[in-house]
Amino acid sequence: PPLHKQRHQFVVDFVKRNKPKKVVDLGCGECTLLKMLKFHHEIELLVGVDVNGAKVKKRMHGLAPISTDYLEPSYDQLCVELYQGSVTQKDARFKGFDLVTSIELIEHLTPADVELFSEVVFGYMTPKMVIISTPNSEFNIFMPGVSCYRHSDHKFEWTRAEFRSWAMKVCLDYGYEVEFTGVGKAPQGQQEAVGFCTQIGVFYQLGGRDCCKTLLVNDAEDLFPYTLLYKVNY
Ligand code: SAM
Repeated sequence: PPLHKQRHQFVVDFVKRNKPKKVVDLGCGECTLLKMLKFHHEIELLVGVDVNGAKVKKRMHGLAPISTDYLEPSYDQLCVELYQGSVTQKDARFKGFDLVTSIELIEHLTPADVELFSEVVFGYMTPKMVIISTPNSEFNIFMPGVSCYRHSDHKFEWTRAEFRSWAMKVCLDYGYEVEFTGVGKAPQGQQEAVGFCTQIGVFYQLGGRDCCKTLLVNDAEDLFPYTLLYKVNY
């Protein structure tokens, strides 16, 4: 299957194993991943946010229940919400989730915004689990026609060492541990040398630690900067 499907399937498989009840997809785009996740009945709250509201609106109606969904009793728990907003901003509605996914998003952020993203996701939203995917630049030698970045909007593409060093710092700062994996295998015999085409970090919040700099909300701040675009209850 194509790589974007493999990335989404990775999340679906993770959800099947870990059964999170509340899931947020950051940079949800046209809601492709959310549409796959709505079939997983353990999920009670499924939320997406993207800075590009027009992109979200384009296909969001595909998240509406179809008439037969109402005949499915296990569906009566599901609530879906879609927002326009930037992952560099803190919104109080995004706290307390079990799983946050960020698929091919961070490489679109400037280095300063990556810092804000780390703070917002790991220091403010403080979910139990986080899945982050991003291109592995070491793999680009196998991608014909890629001379610099895979996409013109990418602000950077990290090697495995660069991704690891960002991830380890996040873990130290905010009290998480991380496992590295990926999708898209290199040709036979070269997997070790270059790694996966898409690198993935799976983060788990460490319980009962107060060493980390979890952020307190300033009352003067806007608690809800994101705009609600769509909401449906099954
Ligand atoms: N996650 C989707 C997927 O796997 O197909 C879309 C990936 S697309 C390459 C990157 C998405 O991130 C775009 O939809 C873009 O609008 C969104 N994005 C970029 N900067 C953002 C920001 N600061 N906050 C929220 N979303 C952002």
